[in-house]
Amino acid sequence: MSKLKIAVQKSGRLSEKSLQLLEECGIKFPNGGGKLITEATNFPVQILFLRDDDIPQYVEQKVADIGIVGENVLIESTKKINIVEKLGFSSCRLSLAVPKEAEYQGLEFFKNKRIATSYPNILSEYFQDQKIAVSIEVISGSVEIAPGIGLSDGICDIVSSGSTLLSNGLKEVEKVLDSQAVLVASEDLDLEKQQILQKLLFRIQSVRKAKENKYILLNVPNPKLDKIKAILPGMNSPTILPLAKEGWSSLHSVISEDKFWDVIDELKVAGAEGILVVPIEKMII
Ligand code: ATP
Ligand code: ZN
Repeated sequence: MSKLKIAVQKSGRLSEKSLQLLEECGIKFPNGGGKLITEATNFPVQILFLRDDDIPQYVEQKVADIGIVGENVLIESTKKINIVEKLGFSSCRLSLAVPKEAEYQGLEFFKNKRIATSYPNILSEYFQDQKIAVSIEVISGSVEIAPGIGLSDGICDIVSSGSTLLSNGLKEVEKVLDSQAVLVASEDLDLEKQQILQKLLFRIQSVRKAKENKYILLNVPNPKLDKIKAILPGMNSPTILPLAKEGWSSLHSVISEDKFWDVIDELKVAGAEGILVVPIEKMII
C-alpha cells in the first residue's frame, strides 16, 4: 500500500503546531530526532521535515504529496499546487512598515522608494496593481533592520503582534495580505493517495470543529426550559434529563465558543444555574 508523503517545517513557527495537528488526528509517529523523514506507525503517511520555503516546490515536484505551509510562503512561491484546507493556526499578516517618525499619508509615500522584503513577488504585484513604481530590495532575513542601516526606506514583512516593528523603530502602515497555515496538495495524486488524503482531511475537520465548539451543561427550572432552549443556538436538539431536585432539569447541548460568550448573560437572567462548559476532543457531524 502506498503512503502519503506530507511535508512539514523542520524547525520554526509552523513545526510544533503542524505535528500537534497530526497527533490530534490520532496519527502516531516516532520523534523525528533530526531525521529528514519519519513514518507513522498507525496511518499510511510519511512525514518529511523541510525548510518551509522549500515545501511548495517539493509538493509541486511531487517529492511530497501534501504539505503544511504559510499562505504567505505559498503565494510568494507562485507554484501550481492546491490549497485543500485552511488550518487556522500561525495567523499573521504581510504588511508594509516605515520608520515611525515618517509622515505617512498613503501608498503614494512609497513612490520611487526602496522597500526591503523577502516577498518580492507578492510585493511587486501589489505595487503594480496600485500603479506605483518602487524599488524592491530582496533580503532573506532580519528585514526589520534594513531602514535603520540605510538599506531601505520601508519594509514589507510578516507581522503578528507588531512588537518586532516597534522595537526597531518602525510602524505598520498597510496590510498587503492575511496569512495562516494551509494544507496544500500536489495537483494530481493517484487514487490511493487521494483516499488517504480524504481520510486525513476528515480527521482534521473533526479536530478543528471540536476546537471551535464546547459541550455545555446547565440546570434549568422546568418552566424556563423553552425560553432557555430558544437562547441556545445548539447544532442539534438539546438533551434534557430530569434532576433529582424536583422541578428542575439538566440541559446538554453543543455551542460554538464565540456564541457561548454572547449568550451567557441571557442564560443566567433566564434562570440557568450550575453552567458547565466542557472541551470536546473530536466532533463528527
Ligand atoms: P525556515 O527556516 O523553515 O525557512 P523561517 O524562518 O522562514 O523558517 P518562521 O519564522 O519559522 O520561518 O515562520 C514560518 C511561518 O510561520 C511564516 O512563513 C508565517 O506563515 C508564519 N509566521 C511567521 N511569523 C509569525 C508570527 N509572528 N506569528 C504567527 N505566524 C508567523
Ligand atoms: Zn523560511
